[in-house]
Amino acid sequence: MMDEERVISTGFKAEEDDLEYSLRPKTLADYFGQKKVKDSLSVYMQAAVARREPLDHILLYGPPGLGKTTLAGIIASEMGHNIRVTSGPAIERPGDLASILTNLNAGDVLFIDEIHRLSHSVEEVLYPAMEDYALDIMIGKGPSARSIRLDLPKFTLIGATTRAGMLTSPLRDRFGISFRLELYSPEELSVIILRSAQILKIQCDKSGALEIARRSRGTPRIANRLIKRVRDFAEVRANGVITENVAKQGLTMLEVDELGLDRTDRTMLSTMIMKFGGGPVGLDTLAATTGEDAATIEDVYEPYLLQLGFIMRTPRGRICTSEAYRHLGLAAPESAAPSGQITMDI
Ligand code: ADP
Repeated sequence: MMDEERVISTGFKAEEDDLEYSLRPKTLADYFGQKKVKDSLSVYMQAAVARREPLDHILLYGPPGLGKTTLAGIIASEMGHNIRVTSGPAIERPGDLASILTNLNAGDVLFIDEIHRLSHSVEEVLYPAMEDYALDIMIGKGPSARSIRLDLPKFTLIGATTRAGMLTSPLRDRFGISFRLELYSPEELSVIILRSAQILKIQCDKSGALEIARRSRGTPRIANRLIKRVRDFAEVRANGVITENVAKQGLTMLEVDELGLDRTDRTMLSTMIMKFGGGPVGLDTLAATTGEDAATIEDVYEPYLLQLGFIMRTPRGRICTSEAYRHLGLAAPESAAPSGQITMDI
């Protein structure tokens, strides 16, 4: 028997506390930013409703904390259906997935976070389920074994991953729709922060919100975390109101600098500069010298440093640009690459 409680939760992430839950937008209108994704999604949703068909399977990819889980919940509720939430590592055996699938109702959304971490045998169950809404079950063993096919309700799978490249191609090919979520601009994040402040009854002015936004590395989850920490600072050291100045002081105390880099980012950059002359440095070497996991560097640290134009990827490894030297207060050598394209308005 599979432990359905463990693998599945009908709400959002099981470990999420009430506070986090209350900050999660429930409608597309409250989901700020990601305009391109939202525009296409509304078209696909309207078309599916008009045809009375389930929405095509959707792959959402992008760094953690950008709103993949939130968006999946919104899609389900805008389509008027339920969502079941699970994750790749939680589905250990094919039987676990079979049980989840057979318990879905027509139109339901099945959200699988970290879908790249599904085991091969579980993935095999998913292929006919996605393609034909069918489950192939083997009965018996040895020469008398035969397979029977069960029909499944027409559901929508929403898979989330930090990097689409980590999916096997048969799985990737079975998603009709795929969206890449982008890091948010400070302006978008400041709207999210003001909304969170209102829900949490925190007094925060526009300039305070923008200051937190600038230091949130383009990520709503970080923005929400920082506003809570700055509130503590505002209550103890100021009169409870988050202004630009209070935000600056509070975040500096947390060692989050004016671009949102924390100690780990700065260690990573200075390691590249001091120990490797600015690179190129291979990912594994960087992981070993900074004590961070290679996957965490790729998923959490790098996207923002790349966006800032502080590092660049080359076939021989990562290199620091002259912008990174300047940010750390170091003189860049002549050979340092000029900053890559800076796509964010900071
Ligand atoms: P992911 O699944 O990509 O790791 P989540 O969906 O868990 O990210 O989002 C993290 C938090 O950020 C959520 O609790 C939510 O409050 C907030 N959030 C994410 N995207 C948005 C958005 N577009 N607008 C407002 N809040 C957002």
